[in-house]
Amino acid sequence: MFRSHNFSAGPSILPTEVLQKAQAELLDYKGTGSSIMELSHRGPEYIEVDAQATSRLKSLMGLGDDFEVLFLQGGASTQFMMVPYNFLAEGKTANYLNTGTWSKKAIKEAKIFGKVHVGFSSEEENFGRVPRNEEITHVEGAEYLHFTSNNTIFGTQYRNEPESNGVPLVCDASSDFLSREVDVKRYGMIYAGAQKNAGPAGVTIVIIRKDFLAKARTENVSTILSYPTHVGTMFNTPPVFGVYFFNLVLEWIEKQGGIKAVEKVNEAKAAQLYTEIDKDDFYRGTAEAASRSRMNVTFRLPSEDLEKKFVKEAAALHLDGLKGHRSVGGIRASIYNALPRESVDTLVSFMVDFRAKNG
Ligand SMILES: *Cc1c(COP(=O)(O)O)cnc(C)c1O
Repeated sequence: MFRSHNFSAGPSILPTEVLQKAQAELLDYKGTGSSIMELSHRGPEYIEVDAQATSRLKSLMGLGDDFEVLFLQGGASTQFMMVPYNFLAEGKTANYLNTGTWSKKAIKEAKIFGKVHVGFSSEEENFGRVPRNEEITHVEGAEYLHFTSNNTIFGTQYRNEPESNGVPLVCDASSDFLSREVDVKRYGMIYAGAQKNAGPAGVTIVIIRKDFLAKARTENVSTILSYPTHVGTMFNTPPVFGVYFFNLVLEWIEKQGGIKAVEKVNEAKAAQLYTEIDKDDFYRGTAEAASRSRMNVTFRLPSEDLEKKFVKEAAALHLDGLKGHRSVGGIRASIYNALPRESVDTLVSFMVDFRAKNG
């Protein structure tokens, strides 16, 4: 079987065992003679999948009964709009931390519905870092503080949740979801498109604390865009294959020993790459050291020509998906949960070789 060393930023690598299980169950799901995609979402098979995914997620993340889990569609980008649509009434303010392209898109949507206080921005510094707590400014009576826990494009990540001055945190966790433990009680809401760490594109996982949910606007709202619509019932057809696959990924995380165990491996993989980058000036990390991401490792080479050559020669070894985002250039190695240690080993050996030949 051929599997590439897949460093793609998203959609990205999924665990081989999970793909194999989905393949084995594809034509005949549990003796039904149909695939899970061909069965009613109101039938016992899918209802079980949905319930399992919810309970597995709750137990892996340590979410109590005070949290609701929703499986929505439209990607994280739809959440950029749904969050302020539900929680930011006209004349009210929310605090947004601007740490990259995705944060900016979230801010743009929020401004349609209410006032946005930008409590921090690293835009002037080319988004090379996330804030220290003492740099964040607050406003009285903010509805929530929105942040992007991992900035997929710029390769930065918060080490810990930012200080929120007592208001609930709302987090776009698309690119580090389930990669490390989080302090769940500090969040009003966490959302993530599945396609980076949790499954195929098409399902968006939304976790909302009940007391925060209770503040959602309910008058004169679009039914489908209102969070309360989706609680406890399937209002419309859920992304059945995505939720099914997500459930298998959660089962895989359990087998790895849970999120803490996965986090340890992620730290080790990232450390291996950053150590190589920091050896001398040939490779240059683009993020400030304290803000470095453990999911997307971004770096430059001495010239753009060398970067092109690097990507090309790497691809010949099936080290794929290493080209940086088109808006920033350089190299980006995305090393999500499912990327095996051996792929990082192979990349590091290639980096050593490439430096020796071109440095
Ligand atoms: C990829 C990504 C998004 C966009 O997700 P879609 O599911 O394509 O809407 C948003 N935020 C972050 C942090 C991302 O990495």
